[in-house]
Amino acid sequence: MPMKKPEILILSVSVGLTLVFSTLFGLAGSAIIGTFWGWFWITILVLLVGFAVVNSYLLRKDAQIYEAIQLEALKEISKITVRLTCAYCQQFNDTQITVNQRNTFKCESCNQVNGISMQFMATTLTSPIESVKMPIENSGTVEFKVTS
Ligand SMILES: [Zn+2]
Repeated sequence: MPMKKPEILILSVSVGLTLVFSTLFGLAGSAIIGTFWGWFWITILVLLVGFAVVNSYLLRKDAQIYEAIQLEALKEISKITVRLTCAYCQQFNDTQITVNQRNTFKCESCNQVNGISMQFMATTLTSPIESVKMPIENSGTVEFKVTS
Protein backbone atom coordinates (compact mmCIF):
# COMPACT_ATOMS: atom_id res chain seq x y z
CA MET A 1 0.00 0.00 0.00
CA PRO A 2 1.62 3.30 -1.04
CA MET A 3 1.73 5.90 1.74
CA LYS A 4 0.71 9.48 1.18
CA LYS A 5 3.27 12.23 1.70
CA PRO A 6 1.80 13.69 4.95
CA GLU A 7 1.80 10.21 6.50
CA ILE A 8 5.48 9.70 5.63
CA LEU A 9 6.27 13.13 7.08
CA ILE A 10 4.35 12.46 10.33
CA LEU A 11 5.98 9.04 10.65
CA SER A 12 9.47 10.49 10.01
CA VAL A 13 8.93 13.29 12.53
CA SER A 14 7.57 10.83 15.14
CA VAL A 15 10.51 8.46 14.68
CA GLY A 16 12.94 11.39 14.66
CA LEU A 17 11.51 12.90 17.88
CA THR A 18 11.47 9.48 19.56
CA LEU A 19 15.17 8.98 18.72
CA VAL A 20 16.05 12.52 19.87
CA PHE A 21 14.19 12.07 23.18
CA SER A 22 15.68 8.63 23.74
CA THR A 23 19.20 9.95 23.04
CA LEU A 24 18.67 12.91 25.40
CA PHE A 25 17.30 10.67 28.17
CA GLY A 26 20.09 8.18 27.47
CA LEU A 27 22.72 10.89 27.94
CA ALA A 28 21.00 12.50 30.96
CA GLY A 29 20.14 9.18 32.62
CA SER A 30 23.54 7.57 32.16
CA ALA A 31 25.17 10.67 33.69
CA ILE A 32 23.34 9.80 36.95
CA ILE A 33 23.00 6.00 36.93
CA GLY A 34 23.14 3.05 34.50
CA THR A 35 24.11 2.94 30.84
CA PHE A 36 23.21 5.10 27.83
CA TRP A 37 21.54 2.17 25.97
CA GLY A 38 19.56 1.13 29.05
CA TRP A 39 18.04 4.60 29.31
CA PHE A 40 17.70 4.81 25.51
CA TRP A 41 15.56 1.64 25.20
CA ILE A 42 13.50 2.35 28.33
CA THR A 43 12.67 5.81 26.93
CA ILE A 44 11.59 4.30 23.58
CA LEU A 45 9.43 1.75 25.44
CA VAL A 46 7.77 4.45 27.57
CA LEU A 47 7.13 6.61 24.49
CA LEU A 48 5.63 3.65 22.54
CA VAL A 49 3.27 2.82 25.42
CA GLY A 50 2.39 6.52 25.65
CA PHE A 51 1.63 6.67 21.90
CA ALA A 52 -0.53 3.53 22.14
CA VAL A 53 -2.55 4.96 25.06
CA VAL A 54 -3.06 8.35 23.36
CA ASN A 55 -3.94 6.66 20.08
CA SER A 56 -6.57 4.36 21.61
CA TYR A 57 -8.02 7.32 23.53
CA LEU A 58 -8.30 9.33 20.29
CA LEU A 59 -9.88 6.39 18.47
CA ARG A 60 -12.45 5.95 21.23
CA LYS A 61 -13.24 9.66 21.16
CA ASP A 62 -13.70 9.46 17.37
CA ALA A 63 -16.04 6.51 17.81
CA GLN A 64 -18.11 8.42 20.38
CA ILE A 65 -18.41 11.45 18.08
CA TYR A 66 -19.39 9.16 15.21
CA GLU A 67 -22.07 7.49 17.35
CA ALA A 68 -23.48 10.87 18.39
CA ILE A 69 -23.66 11.96 14.75
CA GLN A 70 -25.39 8.69 13.80
CA LEU A 71 -27.93 9.14 16.61
CA GLU A 72 -28.62 12.71 15.54
CA ALA A 73 -29.08 11.60 11.91
CA LEU A 74 -31.47 8.87 13.04
CA LYS A 75 -33.54 11.42 14.97
CA GLU A 76 -33.64 13.63 11.87
CA ILE A 77 -34.78 10.74 9.67
CA SER A 78 -37.58 9.77 12.07
CA LYS A 79 -39.14 13.22 11.73
CA ILE A 80 -41.92 13.51 9.19
CA THR A 81 -43.34 16.80 7.98
CA VAL A 82 -47.12 16.79 7.61
CA ARG A 83 -49.66 19.46 6.72
CA LEU A 84 -52.50 19.61 9.21
CA THR A 85 -55.45 21.91 9.67
CA CYS A 86 -55.71 23.58 13.06
CA ALA A 87 -58.53 22.11 15.12
CA TYR A 88 -59.43 25.60 16.39
CA CYS A 89 -59.30 27.83 13.31
CA GLN A 90 -58.89 25.42 10.37
CA GLN A 91 -55.66 27.14 9.24
CA PHE A 92 -53.13 24.88 7.45
CA ASN A 93 -49.92 24.29 9.41
CA ASP A 94 -46.80 22.42 8.34
CA THR A 95 -45.44 20.55 11.33
CA GLN A 96 -42.85 17.89 12.07
CA ILE A 97 -43.98 14.75 13.79
CA THR A 98 -42.08 11.82 15.26
CA VAL A 99 -43.74 8.45 15.23
CA ASN A 100 -42.37 7.25 18.57
CA GLN A 101 -43.52 10.17 20.72
CA ARG A 102 -46.53 12.34 21.51
CA ASN A 103 -46.76 15.20 19.04
CA THR A 104 -48.26 18.67 19.34
CA PHE A 105 -48.02 21.82 17.27
CA LYS A 106 -48.76 25.47 17.91
CA CYS A 107 -50.99 27.01 15.26
CA GLU A 108 -49.24 29.81 13.35
CA SER A 109 -52.54 31.64 13.00
CA CYS A 110 -54.31 31.42 16.36
CA ASN A 111 -51.43 30.26 18.64
CA GLN A 112 -53.51 27.39 20.04
CA VAL A 113 -51.64 24.19 20.80
CA ASN A 114 -53.05 21.23 18.90
CA GLY A 115 -52.52 17.60 19.77
CA ILE A 116 -51.81 15.26 16.89
CA SER A 117 -53.51 11.90 16.68
CA MET A 118 -52.03 9.35 14.32
CA GLN A 119 -53.98 6.52 12.84
CA PHE A 120 -52.49 3.59 11.00
CA MET A 121 -54.41 1.32 8.71
CA ALA A 122 -53.52 -2.05 7.31
CA THR A 123 -54.32 -2.76 3.68
CA THR A 124 -54.05 -5.82 1.48
CA LEU A 125 -51.41 -5.80 -1.22
CA THR A 126 -53.66 -6.86 -4.07
CA SER A 127 -53.50 -5.02 -7.38
CA PRO A 128 -56.65 -3.50 -8.93
CA ILE A 129 -58.91 -6.37 -9.93
CA GLU A 130 -61.36 -4.37 -11.97
CA SER A 131 -61.04 -1.25 -14.02
CA VAL A 132 -64.18 0.53 -15.13
CA LYS A 133 -64.15 3.20 -17.75
CA MET A 134 -67.05 5.63 -17.61
CA PRO A 135 -67.75 8.03 -20.43
CA ILE A 136 -68.11 11.66 -19.41
CA GLU A 137 -69.72 14.23 -21.64
CA ASN A 138 -67.29 16.07 -23.98
CA SER A 139 -64.25 15.27 -21.86
CA GLY A 140 -63.22 11.75 -22.70
CA THR A 141 -63.34 9.12 -20.04
CA VAL A 142 -62.65 8.90 -16.36
CA GLU A 143 -61.27 5.71 -14.92
CA PHE A 144 -62.49 4.17 -11.68
CA LYS A 145 -60.28 1.57 -10.10
CA VAL A 146 -61.85 -0.91 -7.77
CA THR A 147 -59.48 -2.58 -5.38
CA SER A 148 -60.07 -5.23 -2.82
ZN1 LIG B 1 -55.42 27.87 14.62
